[in-house]
Amino acid sequence: MMEHTFQALGKHILIMHPEDDTDRPVLAAITGEKRTLLMDSGNSRAHAALFREELDRRGIRMPDLLVLTHWHWDHSFGMSAWEAPVIAHEGTVAMLAELSGREWTDAGMEELIQAGTISEESVEHIRLEYGDSRAVAVNKPDIAFTGTLTIDLGGITCELSHVGGDHSADSCLLYIKEERVLFLGDALGPAVYGGPRRYNSKNFLQLMDQVGSYQAECYVESHGLPMNEQEFRDDLAPWVQLARIVETAGDQREQVIQELKVWLQTEELPGDLLRGVDYFMAGNHYS
Ligand SMILES: [Zn+2]
Repeated sequence: MMEHTFQALGKHILIMHPEDDTDRPVLAAITGEKRTLLMDSGNSRAHAALFREELDRRGIRMPDLLVLTHWHWDHSFGMSAWEAPVIAHEGTVAMLAELSGREWTDAGMEELIQAGTISEESVEHIRLEYGDSRAVAVNKPDIAFTGTLTIDLGGITCELSHVGGDHSADSCLLYIKEERVLFLGDALGPAVYGGPRRYNSKNFLQLMDQVGSYQAECYVESHGLPMNEQEFRDDLAPWVQLARIVETAGDQREQVIQELKVWLQTEELPGDLLRGVDYFMAGNHYS
């Protein structure tokens, strides 16, 4: 039996931690005096049900609105488990409208891999999450926005901002102003569909500037645990440095590795950063 973990971030936010086995991302309920906003729907009705039960158990008002950070299956396929209207970037709406007409059979998923829409890894996770029944229901969101949307929950203000980036062109950040909590979705992740995993150094640095402008106190990435400002900065610093090195060294992989080693004062790069170098090398050829 798997343990599910829930965490309150102050008085107004409850999150469910990510679960890696089937790529379940963080879910968050933000509650003001008048309304509850849910961030991301879960990767299935089963995932959504676990969070619903916990909200119920704690006497938290059920979501009046649901926002999606981006269209990827693990964030959106639980939509049908919630009654609340769904708000999403227009790019998210367009993708989910297209996917809602699809069959989630082996052949249907193979087509999506071939088209570069999803990856083998996602298909593997979908199989694990849904089992043989494969009862996938993809809905089209109800409300489309562009730019930034401000939602008043009653004393609690949520800002949903489209930032795009390598991971998914429709990526949005959700900032809870009074609590100074920034939900990043997967925005800082590499591109994962339609080619090798990749980061474009310009895109990455631009996104980091946008993220830095919030001056949040708590940072939550969808597949990680909440971090305070210092932890977040320490976590991202080598990646920012790597992107800066790539800006000048370009495709010269060995030089990039050498300069990053010097900056880190280390003889050997840790595995994740070494893989990161390859993501950036691949990203030099995409914009
Ligand atoms: Zn994603």
